[in-house]
Formats: sequence, C-alpha cells, structure tokens
Amino acid sequence: MKLWDISPPVDAHSPVFPGDTPYHQHWVATLDVACPVNVSAVTLSPHVGAHADAPLHYDASGAAVGELSLAPYLGPCRVIHVIGVAPLVRWAHIEHAWPAQDRACPPRILLRTCQRQPRDHFDEHLTALDPALVEALADRGVVLIGIDSASVDPAASKELPSHQVLRRRGLRVLENLLLDDVAEGDYELIALPLRWTHADASPVRAILRELPAAESDFVADAVTNSVTVTDPATATATAQP
Ligand SMILES: [Zn+2]
Repeated sequence: MKLWDISPPVDAHSPVFPGDTPYHQHWVATLDVACPVNVSAVTLSPHVGAHADAPLHYDASGAAVGELSLAPYLGPCRVIHVIGVAPLVRWAHIEHAWPAQDRACPPRILLRTCQRQPRDHFDEHLTALDPALVEALADRGVVLIGIDSASVDPAASKELPSHQVLRRRGLRVLENLLLDDVAEGDYELIALPLRWTHADASPVRAILRELPAAESDFVADAVTNSVTVTDPATATATAQP
C-alpha cells in the first residue's frame, strides 16, 4: 500500500508566522558514562509545520485541540490542485474536481496551492481561501479542509474571515501540509492532532494512504491536470462522519 508523507520536516529553520515561536530544542541530558539516555526539551508554536488549528485559536470560548473528535482527521479525502491562483482559492478553482450533482465527494478536501512549498521563509503572499468557498464546502458536507499554505486567511488579515466561517460551521482545518509531490485524486487521510488539553493547535503527522482501486472515484491526469470522475453509482465516499 502506497503512502505519501505530507508533513514538512520540522527543525529550527522551519518557517513561522512573523512573531511566532520557532522550533527550539536543547539537551537536558546527554549520553555519557554517567547518563544512559539522550533527553531533549522542545519549545515551539503549535502552528509550526503541519498542524491542526483548534477553535480555541480563533474563539476565546472555543474547544482546545485535545478536546476535538478525531473523526474529521481520519478518512477519505480529495486532493485538488489550485496552483498559482493566489491570493484566494475560489469555488471556480476547485469546480473541475467536484462531481456532478455534488455526488460522492469525500468530506475532506486538501488544496495544493503551490508547486513547491517555501521551506526556508514564511510566505507573506500565501494563498488563502475565499470565505465563500469555505461556506460552499460546508454546505456540501465537507468536515475538514487542508491546505499547503500557513493559513486559510491572508497573512495580513486581522478579521480572519475564513477562520470565522470554519468556527461558525464547525469545520476542522489542517495547515502547512506538504503536497509538493501529491497528484490530484482521492486518498485516505490520516493526520491526528495530539491530545493537548489546553492548546490552540497541535502538530500532526499527516499522511495519505492509497485507496483500494474500487474506492477511488476521482482520477487526475498528472500531465494535463485534467480530471475524470467515474460513474458516481460506483463511488463509495459517504457523508460526513
Ligand atoms: Zn494554524
């Protein structure tokens, strides 16, 4: 079974939102004759690398990340390419990958906005989401949106309109996914946040797993970027968990 690791490596050079806490690690114990182990201590913003935002990130009374149901973070997803559509991904950009009559689309959508994710600097010009797109996906039963940029809102946004739609509609979000080598198509997503009971976000180890052929109803042509949606009657994707 094929796996795609969609988590960028995390170290002291990982980009962070300006002013945010970078990854830092130091050694509390090191192997030597008197000490049988290496032990480190790590500090970081939970928004470093691939991560899940909790409602607490944008809502003072929202749930912390460790309180969230895991169900949205596990199950069928669709990767859709929206490369170079900055500044905002709109419905028209994903329509090519949406099945007719809204049938049989997995309830998790991952959006690849760039060919190569910037890994040595924070991208001030990141591609964000049109709040109307978030509403439209919520209307269609989507429970989770993932993106390869650092935020679903523009870096300079103070109102965070797409985050606010996520809050109001109860959607979950994954940010900073590494989708550089992922073709359009359907996969199984596995990206579980840690059970951090007071945190506004959590790192995730995000992977995609190949679906059995019978469960994939969306096939992309990697060269032309054209897509084929096969007979919806044979599709197995279901409504939200
Ligand atoms: Zn975040």
